Amino acid sequence: MAFKPANNIQDLQYFGEFGGVNPSISDSSTYTFLSAKTMFDTFEGNADGCYLYSRHSSPSNLYLGEALAALEGTETANVSASGMGAITATLMQLCHAGSHIISSRTIYGGTYAFLKNFAPKFNITTSFVDINRLDLIETLINENTKVIYCESVSNPLLEVADITRLSRIAKKYNLKLVVDNTFSPLSIAPALLGADVVIHSLTKFINGSSDTVGGVICGSQEFINALRNVNDGASMLLGSTLDSLRAASVLKNLRTLHIRIQQHSKNALYLAQKFEADGLKTVYPGLESHPSHNLFKSMMHDAYGFGGMLTIDVGSLEKANELMEMMQGENLGYLAVSLGFYKTLFSAPGSSTSSEIPEEEQAKMGLTDGLIRFSIGLDADIERTYKVMRNCMQQLDIVSPKDAFIKYL
Ligand SMILES: *Cc1c(COP(=O)(O)O)cnc(C)c1O
Repeated sequence: MAFKPANNIQDLQYFGEFGGVNPSISDSSTYTFLSAKTMFDTFEGNADGCYLYSRHSSPSNLYLGEALAALEGTETANVSASGMGAITATLMQLCHAGSHIISSRTIYGGTYAFLKNFAPKFNITTSFVDINRLDLIETLINENTKVIYCESVSNPLLEVADITRLSRIAKKYNLKLVVDNTFSPLSIAPALLGADVVIHSLTKFINGSSDTVGGVICGSQEFINALRNVNDGASMLLGSTLDSLRAASVLKNLRTLHIRIQQHSKNALYLAQKFEADGLKTVYPGLESHPSHNLFKSMMHDAYGFGGMLTIDVGSLEKANELMEMMQGENLGYLAVSLGFYKTLFSAPGSSTSSEIPEEEQAKMGLTDGLIRFSIGLDADIERTYKVMRNCMQQLDIVSPKDAFIKYL
């Protein structure tokens, strides 16, 4: 049977304490027990349905976790206070001193900085690779390797990982494949393709209103239980706990994710096609010119398209900055990092979100100075948006004047 994540979310039925259509928010950090014995059993992890303390679990966080597990098709999930809180807890849980990780080299700047600069303090080392070089990955595996880490669609260069084939390698060598799916919720379901752990920054598309940070780890019951273990669980002990009020608000926004992703994808595809036709160097997985177009298509759930992220290269950082300032002035979006908002967001990754990556490595990855990353918004009239964008690009000599239609704007 086909996997229908939006139906899974639609079908979750939660009642509030007073019959409300939204679940009640658990506004407590600690919980009473009618007997001392139950408290003991809860500490030992033997009292299902009992809550102990909200860093361990809370009803609101469990509701949201359950919904996100339904989204990703995993047994369960554990929410966290941020995407980085999910990523670091997962890696610290799977690794110990001496462990080795193989990671895609084109990943979120914070994840890169954690692996490159922070994890080595605990003698956890990482080999960064081009994630499409499967042959190279196999040669890098040694007896200390524990994890293969990648993003389904990478930040900011929109490289696509072949999750099915990576999972075959992971299984062959008994490694865990951890996939950050922040850029492609609903479009790609990594767990169905063999990923062991799927992570999201909820801050982005899933919440979609740029009003909070949050994260989630989706995986097996066994792994999530291990993360929550009071004695040695990384989520429990590192303490990156999402607040219940925020969990409740993210859950409400998750209800409309399927509609939003469709609109983000539709708008991004429209603009990518126009930009490419205008002669701009455009990277979007929905374009046939994208090296992983067919790979993305083979993994994607059609209804949701190729996502809301695209990049263009305007030649230099100065041009990129000028264009972004002008577009903001024209109210086309915001010069801001992050993604998944109703309005378009744009930034130059080389000097912002990926600035943790040294310049020579940026060059190796193809992360050029003039690159602008767009998170395309939910604009109702994307043609109107395009016309104003094109007008900005023309004024800055990024594209040459074409038709008279620009004039009457
Ligand atoms: C933003 C982001 C993160 C980090 O998430 P936070 O919620 O900011 O901690 C991780 N991975 C990707 C791909 C991201 O875009």
